[in-house]
Amino acid sequence: MAKIIHYRQRCIGCGICYELQPEFWRMSKKDGKATLLKSIRKKEIYILEIDRQHKETSDLVAEACPVNVIKVV
Ligand code: SF4
Repeated sequence: MAKIIHYRQRCIGCGICYELQPEFWRMSKKDGKATLLKSIRKKEIYILEIDRQHKETSDLVAEACPVNVIKVV
């Protein structure tokens, strides 16, 4: 089991995560930032457990984020 971690506060709303992985991301109409769907909030971070099959794409999304606010562990 892997996890996606999103440091949402520092998201600049570029939309790349949503374009690459729409099953996990939405762009908020309220503040323009990305939202990690079905994630659990812990203070300022959002965490989503993912299956192995989603890890490769999630790694690509993390690399593509221009401000490095997505981690996959
Ligand atoms: S790729 Fe990064 S900066 Fe761009 S919307 Fe997603 S989390 Fe925010």
